[in-house]
Amino acid sequence: ETPLHNHFIRQIVIDDRANGKHGGRVATRFPPEPNGYLHIGHAKSICLNFGMAQEFGGRCNLRFDDTNPTKEDVEYVESIQQDVRWLGFEWNELRHASDYFEVFYQCAEKLVGDGKAFVCDLSAEEVRAYRGTLTEAGRNSPFRERSVEENLDLLRRMRAGEFADGARTVRVKIDMASGNINLRDPAIYRIRHVEHQNTGSAWCIYPMYDYAHCISDAVEGITHSLCTLEFEDHRPLYEWFLREIDLPNHPQLAATLAERGLAAPLGTPQQIEFSRLNLDYTVMSKRKLMTLVEENLVEGWDDPRMPTLSGVRRRGFPPAAIRQLCERVGVTKQNSVIEFSVLEGCVREELDASAARRLAVIDPLKLVLTNLPEGHAETLVFSNHPKNEAFGTRQVPFGRELWIEREDFMEVPPKGFHRLVPGGEVRLRGVGIVKCESLQKDADGHVLALQCTLDLDTRPGLPGAERKIKGTIHWVSATHAVAAEIRLYDRLFSVADPDDDSDGKTYRDHLNRASRRVVQGWLEPAAAAVPAETALQFERLGFFVADRHDHAADRPVFNRAVTLRDSWAK
Ligand code: ATP
Ligand code: MG
Ligand code: MG
Repeated sequence: ETPLHNHFIRQIVIDDRANGKHGGRVATRFPPEPNGYLHIGHAKSICLNFGMAQEFGGRCNLRFDDTNPTKEDVEYVESIQQDVRWLGFEWNELRHASDYFEVFYQCAEKLVGDGKAFVCDLSAEEVRAYRGTLTEAGRNSPFRERSVEENLDLLRRMRAGEFADGARTVRVKIDMASGNINLRDPAIYRIRHVEHQNTGSAWCIYPMYDYAHCISDAVEGITHSLCTLEFEDHRPLYEWFLREIDLPNHPQLAATLAERGLAAPLGTPQQIEFSRLNLDYTVMSKRKLMTLVEENLVEGWDDPRMPTLSGVRRRGFPPAAIRQLCERVGVTKQNSVIEFSVLEGCVREELDASAARRLAVIDPLKLVLTNLPEGHAETLVFSNHPKNEAFGTRQVPFGRELWIEREDFMEVPPKGFHRLVPGGEVRLRGVGIVKCESLQKDADGHVLALQCTLDLDTRPGLPGAERKIKGTIHWVSATHAVAAEIRLYDRLFSVADPDDDSDGKTYRDHLNRASRRVVQGWLEPAAAAVPAETALQFERLGFFVADRHDHAADRPVFNRAVTLRDSWAK
């Protein structure tokens, strides 16, 4: 996983270090809101934030951006930590934005004290009307010129809970005529008499995102605050807050932080925006993913078809493949949609190197080798990886009765079919060449079994083994095979842009009905015996993983991660 190319954020960090900016330090954070599971888009942010810290000997915090009082979300808080670790990263510190509620409040008192913020009694609707539009300047709130004393008194009473939800807000005085609407006296506090999952009922005023985020960054000594492009227009606000609050020179802040065991703010973080990762055939908004879960359109957040990290994990995508995807798509300011097949390509590449090979049959047809004696049994030795001897070898039982893949036999083959046909020959992987002598059918013409003979001169090690034959097929010994549940997954959506609702259809209308198929297959014993989450290549079928939750050696359950080739390629 060597970096394929430099990117502009790495270059900024390199330059900043060379210039001694931020004292040469690199400190980043990954700041998820704990209101859902992390998805592949988040992985880009995780790889970037943790990656930059790692590369430059810096620090990266995991910060729960929990300034919104929301319903119980222990499940999300835990899954987020698990997913970050699964991706291969470890945070220096785990923080909660809600740990800084007192800090945010003291910063608001400072802004009010400096005449930079005021308490506004306009209703939400009035605020909207006063805000103006893109083409029309806004108007100053009639409460903008309140005295500092009155504002301080009202702010303290807001905190004390004297006012109803929505009755007042705290707003900063920037510029109601600004061409950037984010700067038209934005609110920094609103009143909400609700419990917070971390602070309980200690607060009834809650800070707004832009305000809380930059202060949190400053408190944690973040140097490079990396965020997605939609925050570009918020950057002037980010910088305004930090300049006007001037945290390092705040009169009480150092003491407040010290009481909480936190260091004094070190300097001024710098916000840098990059484009989001988008994948085709996928939705990636938490709200939509939540709907899929709540409406049982998938089997939970970790359904193997979900683009969540816990979903792709269960699907059998290795974390190195997700990191490789993030490396491959790079970091730019250009929005783009990455083809899902690029991700699948990363998965194939990674699993091709890391997954041992096994034999499995997922649509079985009986094949009987009539020239072997009844009860014949032997053990063959197979190498576990064709390109890597370190994977070693294993024993594969072989006998008179085998399962082969139903599609490897055709009674009336099309031109160019190089597998088994009546009277034809094919090589059985690791065994030798067999000839189909006859077949058995049921009343409906359904093929029940093939009677074949094994050319004993073509067994491995014999000179006849070199005999040329077009096709090679895989098999398992019917007497030794272990029955397994095999879950075959495909893309969750059948259109490239499920978010596009311009034709009146929504992502829900584009669910791929054939995205999950469960079959019963047969595994060689060494495939069944692996621990959950082991990835294997079932030869000729694809890469599979032993299901994280449902797999057991005596009741194997495998999920197909990817086929061996891109079946979606045009
Ligand atoms: P969603 O739109 O799915 O709700 P979000 O941005 O609201 O995502 P957060 O929990 O706030 O979700 O995200 C945490 C961090 O991950 C943020 O810094 C955000 O910018 C980043 N992030 C979220 N989605 C993507 C994405 N698709 N590509 C890159 N970074 C992302
Ligand atoms: Mg967010
Ligand atoms: Mg969101």
